[in-house]
Amino acid sequence: MAEHTSCCHGQVGQRLRLIAMGTEHGNSSIDLGGMSMRGISTGGIRTCLELPSWKLLVDVGAVDYHQVPANTVLITHGHLDHLGGIANHIALRELMGQKPGRYILPPEILADVEDLLAVWRRLDKAPLQAELIPLAPGEVLELDRSKQVVPFAVDHRVVSQGYLLYSRISKLLPVFEGLPGDDLARLRKSGQEITFEVNRVEFAFSGDTRIEGLLDNKKALTAKRLVMEATFLDERVGVEKARSVGHIHLDEIREHADAFECEHLVLTHLSLRYDRRQAWDLIRKVLPADLIDRTVIL
Ligand SMILES: [Zn+2]
Ligand SMILES: [Zn+2]
Repeated sequence: MAEHTSCCHGQVGQRLRLIAMGTEHGNSSIDLGGMSMRGISTGGIRTCLELPSWKLLVDVGAVDYHQVPANTVLITHGHLDHLGGIANHIALRELMGQKPGRYILPPEILADVEDLLAVWRRLDKAPLQAELIPLAPGEVLELDRSKQVVPFAVDHRVVSQGYLLYSRISKLLPVFEGLPGDDLARLRKSGQEITFEVNRVEFAFSGDTRIEGLLDNKKALTAKRLVMEATFLDERVGVEKARSVGHIHLDEIREHADAFECEHLVLTHLSLRYDRRQAWDLIRKVLPADLIDRTVIL
């Protein structure tokens, strides 16, 4: 679970009823500098973010049939709004004739997730085959020759980790910068090495965390695209309360605005208290203009 606050139950109840009318955050596709991301993320309800070009999901709090081609699922932590759809995702892949997916998760929750799937196999009488891959912060998993995943530790109420997604790109050696294309082509043809490879952080996903989980990780803050939680936005749940339940408050993002050097900032996991217009009004009121220009909500 994500929120656990005792105040404003009436409003949350009202918002829960409104989901049925299609007002939950997300379920939309956004373009982030040439890479699209889609999915849904509402604090305490469900989070499942999809990068179609990477065939990858981040968290699987709920799953829909169109997310079945994603054969890699990065799980940040064991709260139900992030993990509750795992058996469903595995079953849907089997139903649609797909190979077992791989599910990357914090090593501390591996045994519990294995137990969970064993129970589902008994109940469902289905194979529910899945490759569970424990990956600790700092360990590297090669998705393919040009893509890597590296978890980083965050600070939530339970064991939780964010993920950095690296792509390996070729860059021109500085000594050849400014040369015309024809000359570069000639050099390449002659066997001269004119490029070198670098790893770039294309995405950072925070999962659920207090703000320290990001502030302690420069690579996440400087990723090309940072997808972070911002569960609480105004005084209805203040900073102290947000921190006590392991989440980030918008006021903390403002306080540390200079640290967010990413090109694109995606705020997710917003509480149901705020509808999209309200959320955006609050964000615009609180964050500095330079950061607003780079910010979207999902
Ligand atoms: Zn959550
Ligand atoms: Zn959580």
